[in-house]
Amino acid sequence: MVDFRRLEDVDVTNKRVLVRVDFNVPCDDIGKVTDDTRMQTVIPTLKYLQDHKAKIILISHFGRPNGTRETGMSLMKIIPHLSKLVGSAVKFSPDCIGSIANLAVSNLVSGDILLLENTRFHLGETHTAAGDKGFDPVFAKALADHGEVFVHDAFSVSHRSQASTTGIAQYLQAYAGLALERELDHISQALDIPRTPVMALVGGAKVSTKISLLKNLVTKLDTLAIGGGMANTFLAALGHNVGASLCEHDLVDTAREILANAKLANCEIILPIDVIAATEFAANAPHRVCGLDDVKPNEMILDAGPETVTKILDAIDASRTLIWNGPLGAFELAPFDTATVEAAKYAAKRVKNYGLIAVAGGGDTVAALKHAGAADDFTFISTAGGAFLEWMEGKPLPGVEIVKKDS
Ligand code: AMP
Repeated sequence: MVDFRRLEDVDVTNKRVLVRVDFNVPCDDIGKVTDDTRMQTVIPTLKYLQDHKAKIILISHFGRPNGTRETGMSLMKIIPHLSKLVGSAVKFSPDCIGSIANLAVSNLVSGDILLLENTRFHLGETHTAAGDKGFDPVFAKALADHGEVFVHDAFSVSHRSQASTTGIAQYLQAYAGLALERELDHISQALDIPRTPVMALVGGAKVSTKISLLKNLVTKLDTLAIGGGMANTFLAALGHNVGASLCEHDLVDTAREILANAKLANCEIILPIDVIAATEFAANAPHRVCGLDDVKPNEMILDAGPETVTKILDAIDASRTLIWNGPLGAFELAPFDTATVEAAKYAAKRVKNYGLIAVAGGGDTVAALKHAGAADDFTFISTAGGAFLEWMEGKPLPGVEIVKKDS
């Protein structure tokens, strides 16, 4: 269990509170926010700080301007939407450090919210003064000087060590905001101190992006179901012909190693026992259910078959905790979304009726679960991509380390 400093551990009344948020949200051509999920997650923290009469200073990155001032990547466009979400006017500073920002900060009164311009307009956010990857402590200090308390509320950037996260924490003690607190409480409940038996369902396109994650999971789980394009590499490793399927043939030895590790660790692996094959990667392409040794050279495996789905649902039945990452098939193309939709709906039902703990995150997972209409019923869905995956890999995350009680 992660033992970390929380907002309730610090007096914020009348203090300048620097809050790291992730407002790197999708926007359309005219700068209108098209998906505000990440903004919504920090609203409870902002309300808490307003209620406790703090002076709130928000910092975030947007896009990858790499130290240049790109107008299209200004956070100014977020202001109308943010003001609407918090229900009061939000101020803006067109730079995150320097005299303009200092003046904006010094003008704050209790309950005010100020958003500082994109931290990545300064190279020091992601690079040292010498130009190497990392951050510039001088820039981090300039950011830290705005605040008296530092609240980190952006789990999605916690896998990176940057000036606006670990850098500020060198000068101010860091506390987890309410969104980070929710993430850490839920993910540690799922993998560090789970209610057992614990199962993970890992799908998606490629094994190559998830090797470390699979290696870590097999040491911790009772059951691991592997689906999506990445399952094809495992099927090939077991000697099955996968035809024209997406398959990383150069990774069959790695797949075998993961299977051997799972056996040693007593982790049951579920791989497809039947598949849906088609000759075209397109929605509604002609397709058929076929056995593993029946895939023709011109056919692609695009989804798990019905017997596999039944096996996965049985495994969900036997589990008390489920961790989900990645789709079981090419879910954007009907009907190759069937296995993903059925498994997601079933997991959601088990959460509602039987108290299953189902935690999901990373990459296309949220889109897949939303597509299945199951997202709202999962116990917790992480807003993070890379950070969720690195947590599944068992790596210490720099942005989590800074809020730990022993740091
Ligand atoms: P990832 O980003 O690794 O989670 O992969 C998600 C992508 O994997 C989605 O775009 C799916 O369409 C794709 N995918 C899943 N299963 C397959 C498959 N059997 N063949 C090709 N692509 C797949």
